[in-house]
Amino acid sequence: MKVIIQTNKIKCDVGNCRNLANYSVAPEGVGAGQYINLCDKCMRTLYGEIGLLLAPKRKSKKKTEEQSRQNDQV
Ligand SMILES: [Zn+2]
Repeated sequence: MKVIIQTNKIKCDVGNCRNLANYSVAPEGVGAGQYINLCDKCMRTLYGEIGLLLAPKRKSKKKTEEQSRQNDQV
């Protein structure tokens, strides 16, 4: 699976989005017609959502690090 920069004028695949796709998710051995095409805005939104699902501990860890740092200062 690769994410490629889409240079053709293809619409973003997200339901209510009317932007042109800037990226395509391209699984190996699959034709261009079956790529998942995403515009820059949807790509960034998706990236944030994926981050929340796949790395939820990283955020809380950062918070506790900041809290312990504050405790050190006090
Ligand atoms: Zn979009």
